[in-house]
Amino acid sequence: MRLARFTLHRPTSLSHALALKDEYGDHATFHAGGTELLVALKAHVLRYEHIIDIKQIEELRGIRIRESNILSIGALTTHHAIANDPLVREYLPGYAELSEQVANIRVRIAGTLGGVLCFGEPHADAPTMLCALDAWVVLAGQNGEREVSSRDFHLGEFATAREDEELLVAIEVAPQSPGTRSAYRCFGHTERPAVGVAAVWSIDNPQRLSLWAGALTAAPARLARTEEVAARLAPDLPIEAVWERLEVAVATDAASLDVHDDLHGGAEYKRHLVSVLAQRAIAACLP
Ligand SMILES: Cc1cc2nc3c(=O)[nH]c(=O)nc-3n(C[C@H](O)[C@H](O)[C@H](O)COP(=O)(O)OP(=O)(O)OC[C@H]3O[C@@H](n4cnc5c(N)ncnc54)[C@H](O)[C@@H]3O)c2cc1C
Repeated sequence: MRLARFTLHRPTSLSHALALKDEYGDHATFHAGGTELLVALKAHVLRYEHIIDIKQIEELRGIRIRESNILSIGALTTHHAIANDPLVREYLPGYAELSEQVANIRVRIAGTLGGVLCFGEPHADAPTMLCALDAWVVLAGQNGEREVSSRDFHLGEFATAREDEELLVAIEVAPQSPGTRSAYRCFGHTERPAVGVAAVWSIDNPQRLSLWAGALTAAPARLARTEEVAARLAPDLPIEAVWERLEVAVATDAASLDVHDDLHGGAEYKRHLVSVLAQRAIAACLP
């Protein structure tokens, strides 16, 4: 289908982009890599008279370590750039590995982290891992910046805590302690994941597991019962013993998730996948 006519704006600063959005309101939207937006525009699911292309905005670019050793990833960073970035590979190897597997090479090269988070399509990988890592997003509006935890950002299908006029500027992660490892495992029959599970395991004292399941529910969900059981495990248990103790808790958590049958699989099948993928993600975190 053909695109409906629109005016393209190409601001080079954050303030200009926000001013354009303020001027055109509901008739305007932001455009980053366009991998989701263009499909929706061509299908006439969405329609805007003004498209604000944000790709020239320097403030949304780059990956850096800022004060207090916080890793800051600019919203325009593509999945491909994240997968190959030396800082991400060193600080969050589990996240670099995830980014290498997103969709296909065309989507990875054009699609941005800001785009996948703001679009709010539940069948995505990064949101699950960012929740497990307790990352936060930096949002900018006409009245300044604010931070929102990734755990509060995803409100449901295509719904996030971002106000329509706000731009997502960066995604940030606090430094992980040396005893922390993270891993993500997913499975699906289509290009998008049917289920993904992210584990962040810290063997520091006290040991902690952060375990989140995504793609199968409207927003990533915490597997809280399993986290509680993991916190009480004796350190240095072999992986088989760890899984023996966590298996029932994961099944209990999976059973409580609000999962439905859809083209990605039946609800029971997806709950089973949560168990399988949780076991694999946890095993990948253990030494
Ligand atoms: C065929 C296909 C397969 C895919 N498979 C996977 C997969 O396996 N795993 C996965 O995780 N993802 C998958 N995706 C999703 C992919 O990650 C996203 O399409 C991509 O990251 C979106 O980024 P973008 O820059 O292209 O966003 P755009 O299409 O430019 O924008 C998407 C939406 O976000 C808004 N937006 C973008 N950037 C900002 C910003 N900085 N601030 C405010 N609003 C903003 C836009 O206004 C728009 O509403 C797939 C997508 C496709 C098309």
